[in-house]
Amino acid sequence: MCYLCHQALPSRQPTRRSFLASATGIAAGLAFAPNAFAKDTKPPPKPQNVISPDQALERLIKGNARYVDGVSRRHDFKHEREALAGGQNPYASILSCADSRIAPEYAFDSGRGDLFVCRVAGNFANDDTVASLEYSVAVLNSPLILVLGHESCGAVDATIKSLKDNTTLPGHLPSLVAALAPAVKAVADQPGDKLANATKRNVIDTIAKLKAATPILSAAVEKGKIKIVGGVYKLADGKVEMVG
Ligand SMILES: [Zn+2]
Repeated sequence: MCYLCHQALPSRQPTRRSFLASATGIAAGLAFAPNAFAKDTKPPPKPQNVISPDQALERLIKGNARYVDGVSRRHDFKHEREALAGGQNPYASILSCADSRIAPEYAFDSGRGDLFVCRVAGNFANDDTVASLEYSVAVLNSPLILVLGHESCGAVDATIKSLKDNTTLPGHLPSLVAALAPAVKAVADQPGDKLANATKRNVIDTIAKLKAATPILSAAVEKGKIKIVGGVYKLADGKVEMVG
């Protein structure tokens, strides 16, 4: 008897054999898909994105070099959309500032389905961004996380001023200040440009926080499944300088 045909006839009384087949199928399903974090078993829509952490980093760096040189590739959005309708397997995850001048897909000359991007002013890691990155690693198999700060970051600058003047910013902005204050305070005694120092420190601290984020990201780093790196985007020429 065809098991699939039998399934299509719910009114039919199940035989012992089909019942056992169903039970085995459910058990097997549970073994592979115990919860909503189940991996997609379909072939990845972008096989070229199934690469190692080091290869992913190299690809980001090469993409940024093309962007800096003004020789970005032309992306076929129409066919990319169609190919990605059934899934995604990005080759890198980016935690970037929300600043309108920083567009990771442009900065790394990448197409749709290539980068899993989380953006928040000040590019810090909170529970929501950590959860998003966990999803990208555990479910989408992204092999690399890049924390991307940038020059002249308004969020970092506002935090420096708020702490210096001991003022409280309006609305929900104090939550950004609270998230960025540790990095600003950590470099308070360093020589040089306060904003540049704090921006770099924030990237370094965020990398450390993500590497220590149990249980998913920390285990993935330990097993060598992913790498977590950082960079600072230079506004004038678009170059991302690696940090860390
Ligand atoms: Zn910014």
